[in-house]
Amino acid sequence: MGLWIAIALLRLLAADPFTAERERMVRDQIEDRGIHDAAVLRAMRTVPRHLFVPENGRRLAYADHPLSIGHGATISQPFVVAWMTELLEPSKAHKVLEIGTGSGYQAAVLSGLVNHVYTIEIVPELAASARQTLQKLGYGNVTVREGDGYKGWPEEAPFDRIILTAAPREVPKALVEQLAKGGRLVAPVGSGPWGQELTVMHKQPDGSIRQRSMGGVAFVPMVPK
Ligand code: SAH
Repeated sequence: MGLWIAIALLRLLAADPFTAERERMVRDQIEDRGIHDAAVLRAMRTVPRHLFVPENGRRLAYADHPLSIGHGATISQPFVVAWMTELLEPSKAHKVLEIGTGSGYQAAVLSGLVNHVYTIEIVPELAASARQTLQKLGYGNVTVREGDGYKGWPEEAPFDRIILTAAPREVPKALVEQLAKGGRLVAPVGSGPWGQELTVMHKQPDGSIRQRSMGGVAFVPMVPK
């Protein structure tokens, strides 16, 4: 019996040589720093981060820092992806909007936690390659659109959750409007030289907004309209 388990484990490792690195990433960079949501940890353990970066960047895919994916875009540090995902408080029934598809990694992390992810990317090449990666890996509930995130996605609104992975000076009005009552929006906001404030907005049942800052982060700026 023990032998079969060993063989099954070896098969698993052969199928994804990065499994052990990913386990270590989740334990040392994410759990140890205070992310405890079981579903978020499971998602971070499951999504093959190395398949969202160009081939020559794979060796560093699980390191404790952001990864460049070209066109001035970066995939956030693993901890920041997990933190923002936890702050979003996703659930299986949710319709989610992401601004800044980039590689598609954050969308893939959300894919298993929600009902559907709509994601907008302004750089055509990134939108196309993220769409291809997500399709190849079987993330069927993610829809990628090439376009300007400042406008949101009015045809699909309202959204239960909205996440921005590029930083605007202020949260775009269209996005606040497209957030459902009771919904949450998580975004890096500001234009300071050292980064932005990670901001959580919570739209109340009466439509008013409550907002809090969670701390400093450094994202690529959202390209203005
Ligand atoms: N979430 C991504 C990383 C995003 S990096 C991932 O997991 O890989 C930020 C992305 O936002 C970049 O790809 C950038 O091109 C995009 N972006 C910048 N301004 C934008 C805008 N106005 N609308 C949509 N996308 C935008």
